[in-house]
Amino acid sequence: MTNPLLEQQTLPSFSLINHKHIVPAVEQQITANRDFLEQLLDGLKNPTWANLIEPLCIQDNLLDNLWSPVGHLNSVNNNNEFREQYEACLPLLTEYAAEIGQNQELFQHYKTLSDEQSLTPRRKKIINDGLLSFKLAGVDLSSQDQARYREIKKQLSQLSSQFSNHVLDATMAWKKHIIKKQDLAGVPESTLDDLANKAKAEEKDGYLLDLEFPTYLAIITYAENRSLREEIYRAYCTKASDQGENKDWDNSALIDQILTLRHELALLLGFDSYAHYSTATKMAKDPNQVVGFLEKLIEPSLKAAKKEFAELSQFAQESDNLDDLQSWDLSFYSEKLRQRDFDISQEALRPFFPEPQVVESLFEITQQLFNVSIQEKTDIDTWHESVRYFEILDQNNNPQASFYLDLYARKHKRGGAWMDSCRDRMNMSEVKQLPVAYLTCNFAGPTNDRPALLTHEEVLTLFHEFGHGIHHMLTQVDEVQVSGINGVEWDAVELPSQLLENYAYHKPSLKRMAKHYQTGEILDDASIDRLIAARTFQAGMFMVRQIEFALFDFLIHLNYQQGTAQWQNVLDEVREQVAVIRPPAYNRFAHSFSHIFAGGYAAGYYSYKWAEVLSADVWEYFEQQGALNTETGQHYWNCILSQGGSKPAMELFKDFRGREPEVEPLLRQQGIA
Ligand code: ZN
Repeated sequence: MTNPLLEQQTLPSFSLINHKHIVPAVEQQITANRDFLEQLLDGLKNPTWANLIEPLCIQDNLLDNLWSPVGHLNSVNNNNEFREQYEACLPLLTEYAAEIGQNQELFQHYKTLSDEQSLTPRRKKIINDGLLSFKLAGVDLSSQDQARYREIKKQLSQLSSQFSNHVLDATMAWKKHIIKKQDLAGVPESTLDDLANKAKAEEKDGYLLDLEFPTYLAIITYAENRSLREEIYRAYCTKASDQGENKDWDNSALIDQILTLRHELALLLGFDSYAHYSTATKMAKDPNQVVGFLEKLIEPSLKAAKKEFAELSQFAQESDNLDDLQSWDLSFYSEKLRQRDFDISQEALRPFFPEPQVVESLFEITQQLFNVSIQEKTDIDTWHESVRYFEILDQNNNPQASFYLDLYARKHKRGGAWMDSCRDRMNMSEVKQLPVAYLTCNFAGPTNDRPALLTHEEVLTLFHEFGHGIHHMLTQVDEVQVSGINGVEWDAVELPSQLLENYAYHKPSLKRMAKHYQTGEILDDASIDRLIAARTFQAGMFMVRQIEFALFDFLIHLNYQQGTAQWQNVLDEVREQVAVIRPPAYNRFAHSFSHIFAGGYAAGYYSYKWAEVLSADVWEYFEQQGALNTETGQHYWNCILSQGGSKPAMELFKDFRGREPEVEPLLRQQGIA
C-alpha cells in the first residue's frame, strides 16, 4: 500500500490522505529519524554545521511535513476515525521530542558548536536557542533529578487537565429554565432562538440558560432583568470554586498544587521562580522588565478607567436611577452607552463588507506595501471545494510563498480562526522549500444569491490571521529553525498580526473595502468615523482589567509562597491597585482562569499587552510615513518580516524603529494618553 503521507511532495495530496495512513506513517518516520540520528552521532568527533545540524534539520523536516497535513485535516475535516488516529500519534511525538531534548550526546555536540568561531551570528543563535531547549528539557540534570523532572511534568499535565475538566463540568451543570419570554426582555432574538432550542433539546418549553460563554455574554449584556443578570454573574464567576454549587469541582487545591509544582520545576532547572523560567524564552528579558512594563501602563490606564467608570455610573443613574452600579451591571449599561454614543451595529455593517471585496482589498494592501503580487492557482488538490490557493510572487515574478484560504464555517471544522504552517521556508544543501501557510476562518458562507458578508469584527479577524501569514511567508531566512515564525519569542509573535488589524481601522483602506455588495455605495464618512472612534470606547476599563489578569498571573508565579490559597491575597492586592470596581467577595475568577492554569499562558498572560505595545509602536511609524507607503512596507519587511527568529525580537524591533519600544503609542491609539 502506498502511503501519501510518506511521499515527500511540495504540497500534501489532501484528497488521498485517510485515517489509515496516519499511524503507520508517523511510526515509520519517527523510526527513520531515530536511525538517522544514531548513524549521524556514531563516531562523530568534530561536529560542524554541515555534518550535524544541517542533515538533522533536513531529516526532521520530513516529519514536520508529514505531520502538518494530519494536524490540519484533524482541525478542518474532523471525524471520529481520523481523530482517534491523530490522537494515537500525540504520545509518540511527545516521546520523540522528549528523547531528543534529553539526548546527552547531541547536547554535548551543541555545546562544542557554540564555541565555534566561524558560525554566522544567525547560526550561533540557532545553536544557543537549541542549548536553551536542552536545558529546559532537563538534559543536564542528575538521573535522580531527571526522574523528578519527568514526574513533575506528568503531574502538571494531569492537574491542568483536571482543572479544565472541573471548569467544563461546572459550566455544563448549571442550567436555568425560564418559561416567560418577558423575563428575558432585552435579549436579542437570535439568542432567544438558541435558548429555545436548548430547552427543546431537553423536552422543555420556554428557554434554557446555561453558562456557555455566548449565553453568559448575551444575558449579562442585554437582559433588562437585573436580578437575572446578578444570578448568572454569580454562577459564572464562582464556577469550579469553593463558592460554586458543587464542591467536587473546586479548583482551589489544584491551583495550590500547580503553583507548587511549577515552582519546584523552575528551581530544579536552575531558575529563581517560574516567572524567571517563563521569561527565559521570551522577548522580555527578565521578570523585572515585565513588572515594570505593566506598572508603566497602570497610572494612565487607571486614570482613564476611573473617568469612564464615572461616566458609566452617571449614565446608569440617568437612565434607570441606579445608584450602585455593580459588576453585573457593567456590560449592560456599557452596551447601552456604546449604542448611544456610536450607534454602530455589526449586523448593519455586513452588507458593506462582502468577503470577496474584503479579501481583494487585503491583497491590494499587501501588494502595495511589499511590491509583490498575489495570484490564484486553481489546479491544486485541497480538502474542500471552497478552499482556494494563492501564490505570492516578488516583483520579478519569482514565487516567494503560497497559501490555502479556507474561510467558511462548515460541519466537522473546528471553530475560530488561525494561521498555521504547511511548509516552512528552508534552503539547506539540496533542500529548497518555500513557505506555505494555511489561513483558516469560520465565516458564514455565501448563499445562492449573495456573497459571504462579514461583520467588522470578522474583517479584523481576517487581517489578523493574514498578518501571521505574511510573517510566515515573507521570510527570507534559509535556516528552517528560525525562518518565518520559527524561533520568534512568544511575546513578540502577535506583532505582525495585530499590526495588520490597523488597516481595518484605517480610513483610506476602509473607504476602499467597505462598499455595499448590491449598490456599490461606499460606507459614508460619518459611519466610518464612528466605527474608528468606537475602538477607544472604554479602552481604559478594558486595559485595567487586562493588567489585573496579567499582574495576577505574573506575581503568583514570581513571588510564589507556600500555603493554601496564598494567591488569593495576591489577587486582592492587585485589585486594590488597579481595579475600578471591586467585585463581590464571592467572585472566584482565578478558579476558571484556564489560560494560565490549563493553557500555555502561565507567567505569560502579559504577552497580550506586550505585543499590543509593539504593534501600536510600529503602526505609529507606518502612519507617520504613510500607511500604504511601499518604502515603509519594505523597511518593515527587511527589518522584521524577512528575519523570522534569526535575531532576538528586541534587536529586530530596534532595527525597525531605531529605539526600544515605548508604551505611549498604544496609550494614544487607545485614546488613553
Ligand atoms: Zn494571533
